[in-house]
Amino acid sequence: MRIRDVIDEKAPTLSFEFFPPKDDIGFWDLYRTVESLKPLSPTYVSVTYGAGGSSRRKTIELVQRIKADIGIESMAHLTCAGATESELGSIIDSLQQHDIQNVLALRGDPPDGRGDFVPVEDGFSHANELVAFIRNRVDMCVGAACHPESHPESPSAEEDLDNLKRKMDAGAEFLITQLFFDNRVFLAFRERAIAAGVTVPIIAGIMPILSVKQVKRFTGVCGATIPQDLLRKIEAVEDDAEAVRHIGMYHATQQCLHLLDNEVAGVHFYTLNRSTATRAIYQLIRSNMECTTEVCRAGERL
Ligand SMILES: Cc1cc2nc3c(=O)[nH]c(=O)nc-3n(C[C@H](O)[C@H](O)[C@H](O)COP(=O)(O)OP(=O)(O)OC[C@H]3O[C@@H](n4cnc5c(N)ncnc54)[C@H](O)[C@@H]3O)c2cc1C
Repeated sequence: MRIRDVIDEKAPTLSFEFFPPKDDIGFWDLYRTVESLKPLSPTYVSVTYGAGGSSRRKTIELVQRIKADIGIESMAHLTCAGATESELGSIIDSLQQHDIQNVLALRGDPPDGRGDFVPVEDGFSHANELVAFIRNRVDMCVGAACHPESHPESPSAEEDLDNLKRKMDAGAEFLITQLFFDNRVFLAFRERAIAAGVTVPIIAGIMPILSVKQVKRFTGVCGATIPQDLLRKIEAVEDDAEAVRHIGMYHATQQCLHLLDNEVAGVHFYTLNRSTATRAIYQLIRSNMECTTEVCRAGERL
């Protein structure tokens, strides 16, 4: 199943993102976590590709097992980092041989998330090159990343949008945003992207805040902003993990409901491999969607 086809048929998509664990015990724990999501019928589950190209074997194994053994559609992330064109070609061929039909093509970051991205010799420098490479090699649905608050290395928002169009022109069929906490940022970005000629669907990347330290670290790397009022709220209860988690879940749920009201193409949850919070949010928004579509309509008819 190609993600773009699902979006075209019955938007919005609801999906979960996981990263490959370091060891075998973690691998099987994650396998069971993903398995437990099956009854929720997510549109797809995606598996990240370790920074600098590490964990590539585990990414491939996980997406294969999620699709073939668990029976949930899966998407592999793939980056330009640490691999030559020919190595990337082998990975893509292997994904195709295992019937993986969706790939998120990214540039990647340096291994520690800091410093300049250095492409390998005979590798790619930017995601648009990887998108084109995959599209020319195999018949797969290729997605790409977008950055509502601009990519930190972009000289301007306009140049970042030019890059987005480059990825679309290279064959990206949908986009997933970097995390954001203020829907106004997403809606304004979507409007600017459409005005600039971006015609592919934009899926919102949502990360429920689970810890103050962690969210500050992530936003520090990717350049996303935490709105002042939200920051004040979580900082006020910083030492109470449960309270931070509740605020994070409430905020993410409100974000999702508002985005769905505003015809978002899909919601993609950054789970950080801790699925309890995202599962709860997912169930709430799912029942809200079903309520607006079926039960409420039936109620209206009464
Ligand atoms: C949904 C999502 C999933 C992610 N998954 C992973 C993952 O699994 N593994 C991982 O390591 N990282 C992942 N990342 C992080 C991602 O690799 C970083 O955000 C990275 O810094 C940029 O990736 P990109 O694909 O947007 O890069 P690009 O589109 O290549 O853009 C990077 C920068 O280069 C500029 N640029 C692009 N093309 C050109 C050009 N031709 N000429 C000049 N400038 C150009 C852009 O404006 C931007 O500033 C993910 C990000 C998102 C949003």
